[in-house]
Formats: sequence, C-alpha cells, structure tokens
Amino acid sequence: MKPTIALVGRPNVGKSTLFNRLTKTRDALVADYPGLTRDRHYGHGRVGDRPYLVVDTGGFEPVVDDGIMHEMARQTLQAIDEADAIIFIVDGRSGLTPQDKIIAQRLRQTQRPVYVAVNKVEGMTRSVVTAEFFELGLGDPGAISASHGEGVREMINEVLELFPVEEEEEEANHPKFAVIGRPNVGKSTLVNAVLGEERVIAFDEPGTTRDSVYIDFDRGEKKYTIIDTAGVRRRGKIDEAIEKFSVVKTMQAIEDANVVVLVLDATQEVSDQDARLASFALEAGRAMVVAVNKWEAANLEQREIIKREVLRKVGFLSFAQFHYISALQGQGLAELFKSIDQAYHAAMIKIPTPKLTRALQLAIERQQPPLAGKIRPKLRYAHQGGTNPPVVVIHGNALEKVPAVYWRYLESTFVKTFKLQGTPLRVQFKLGD
Ligand code: GDP
Ligand code: GDP
Repeated sequence: MKPTIALVGRPNVGKSTLFNRLTKTRDALVADYPGLTRDRHYGHGRVGDRPYLVVDTGGFEPVVDDGIMHEMARQTLQAIDEADAIIFIVDGRSGLTPQDKIIAQRLRQTQRPVYVAVNKVEGMTRSVVTAEFFELGLGDPGAISASHGEGVREMINEVLELFPVEEEEEEANHPKFAVIGRPNVGKSTLVNAVLGEERVIAFDEPGTTRDSVYIDFDRGEKKYTIIDTAGVRRRGKIDEAIEKFSVVKTMQAIEDANVVVLVLDATQEVSDQDARLASFALEAGRAMVVAVNKWEAANLEQREIIKREVLRKVGFLSFAQFHYISALQGQGLAELFKSIDQAYHAAMIKIPTPKLTRALQLAIERQQPPLAGKIRPKLRYAHQGGTNPPVVVIHGNALEKVPAVYWRYLESTFVKTFKLQGTPLRVQFKLGD
C-alpha cells in the first residue's frame, strides 16, 4: 500500500505550502477534472514512480483546556496514529519555540518514523539553521524551503526510503469493493445486509483505527471481497460512529479497492464531506457505485429533493450508477451488485491496441482535432497504458496542442465505444515520439 505521510507542526510553519508542493500534479498530461473542490487536507502525491498519500493535519495547538485537548490537537493525534511516517515542520526563521518542544514530546512517543523539516530556510546556511533543532531529540533535522521547493525532494526521498518498494501486486481477479461514507449513513448495516449477521460477528475483531476489515464472500457463483471501513466496532462507546470513522482508513480502502461503493444518507442533506469523499475516490481513479441509503425512510417529496441534491453535489461522478436502497430492509442489493460487477469489469478491461486505434481513427473521422495556429495535431495510434482505471495512451505529433475539450471528446468516445459504465477513464498523450 502507499505510505501515508502526515504533516504536523504548529500553525504558520508552512504545512499547507508543503502540502501543495507534495501533492502537485506532476504529470500535467493526466486528465484532471476541472471544477472539483479538492479537500485541502488529503492528497495523492508521487516522486518518480513512488506514490504516497499526504495528510495536512491543519495545525497542532497543544493547549489543554479544562483537561480537554483542543479538537484540532485530537484530530492531529489521530492522524499521527494512522500515518506511516510523520514530517514535523518547524520554522527556521522564528527558531525553536516551546510549542515545538511540546509537539516533539508527543512525537517521541509514537512508533512512527519522524522527519524534522526546518522550513523557510531559502538563502540561509543549512547547518546553522538546523543546529538548534537537534534538541528536539528526533534525529537529524533536514532543511527545506516549501515555497521555493528546496530540499523537498531529498526530504520526501528520505521518508519514502523507509518503505519497501511495492511489488506489482497480483490484482484480485474478482470485485474487491470498499464501502465508504461518512459516519451513520449505514455502512455497517449495508455490510451486514450483504453478509448476513453471523458472518460479520465472526469477523468482529478489534483492530487499530486505521485498519479496515477485509471479508471474502460468495454471492451466487461469484466471488467478492468487501472492504469494510466501518468494521472495527467498539461496543459500548458513546461516540461509536464518529470514533470508527477515519479519513485515512477511507483513503487506504479506496486505494486498495477496485470498486468503491459510496454510501449516502437519503434522510440527510448531501454534505461537503460526501462530495469530498467522492472527489477523492475519483482522483484515485476508482470505479464507483453510489448507494443512496435509507430510501424507505424518505417520503415522496423528500425523494424528489434528495435526487436533485445528489445530482448537484456528486453529479460529477457522471460515469457512476446511482442506486436508491434500504440496507435496513435489504432492498436494492441485487441491482447494486449488478453495478458493482459492471464497474469492476469496466475498470479491469483490457483492450487490444488495434481496437483502440480503430476507435481513435473513427473519432478523428467524425471530428478532427482543431487547428492550433497553422498546426493540426496528429493522433496516430492508441494503446492501453493501465487498468483500474483504464488509461488510453495516444501517440502522435503536436499532441501538446490538443485542447481540453477535444480530450474530453476522446474520453467520452472511448467510454461509449467500449461501454465502460462505472469507471473513470483517462486519456494521456505520449509526447515526443
Ligand atoms: P500552515 O499554517 O502551517 O499551513 O502554514 P502555511 O503553509 O499557511 O504558511 C504560513 C506562511 O509561511 C505563509 O505566509 C507562507 O507563504 C509562508 N511560508 C511557507 N513556506 C515558506 C518558505 O519555505 N519560505 C518562506 N519564506 N515562507 C514560507
Ligand atoms: P455507519 O456509521 O455508516 O456504519 O452506519 P450504521 O450502519 O451504524 O447505521 C447508522 C444508523 O442508521 C443506524 O441506526 C441504522 O439502523 C440506521 N440505518 C442504516 N441503514 C438504514 C436504512 O436503510 N434505513 C433506515 N431507516 N435506517 C438505516
């Protein structure tokens, strides 16, 4: 799995600046989806061929009020708990502060590797600015400038070195779907409905907050793996639903799945968090099915409203099938599974080069790429560059001049030609050949 790196530090040290740098889309040729509001706090990143996930923890104010830690600090501690490694950012211009020391104390207690990044040191002598931060007792501090990009690559390489390079994992040859959604939308109820109560109890073992529960099961003749992000139940806890919800766990489940089932609640407004989960899964390139749950509890008027809401808030998942279900009553599951199967097959499809090239040529015959000045981009052939999601790589000349609108035209043409319902599809242009 991709390592998850949490950025920790007091406010204003440069966490969000660093976050933006670490999650910047490096491959400008990969289609992105304009108009999405991305969650500032959770992102995908990559150096070379090493992908990772980054969490910007916001800000750590280690202040204790009436014995209750600030909500922010609580969330930061959760993020630390769930991360594989921590980058602890301090400000090289303001020097070591008492708050840094308190945070360091906390970090020394974690089992996670910690990298101390002394930020804002552009134009300064590294050894001089880092010297005082040895006192934190967290090893050799590195010097960076998040805004200028200095030292960032060395830092991330050093952090990633701690994790083994991922072996090309044997892809599951059956649907492996993650059930995601915010607390209380009915994920556990859905998993129970799918598996039957007995099975779930059998798997009901305590785990750490970041681990989802993986359960293999058969439905009819078919094999599935369900990734249950709500699966770690702690009986007797008041805040159970909130407690068991973890964004990092959800992120990891999305990464590991080949289909994502996003559960929404028909009795509640579709929230920004719903939309953020949807856009995160989309960014990960996952095939998706949307299950609007608790449908039996909504009256006719509410149903009309919720249908509109769903379209408005997560309508950007244009490739996904939407289902209106009741997990509690076990309604709508058969159709849900049809869409899961379909999405899985679309995500895993392997299309031979001649077929793709033929589809490309037909698309060009119907509509040529527009002239860019005097040059008309020449699209010669296409091959498939990957699955989950399917990637179509197009070869030719002057491809950098193909406008976004034509790019989208090609995407939708491939989707239609190969009937890829349920998965996003990416078109990339191979430059320089
Ligand atoms: P956060 O509160 O930790 O997320 O900090 P921000 O990323 O919002 O940065 C706080 C301030 O520090 C902003 O004004 C940034 O422009 C500035 N800043 C961030 N990184 C650097 C850096 O490498 N050098 C300098 N000089 N300023 C920086
Ligand atoms: P999770 O936090 O997403 O795992 O949500 P739960 O499965 O624990 O469900 C939260 C609450 O919603 C529980 O009280 C469930 O009984 C209820 N619930 C789940 N599915 C349905 C449904 O289809 N209809 C109705 N009316 N309630 C449901």
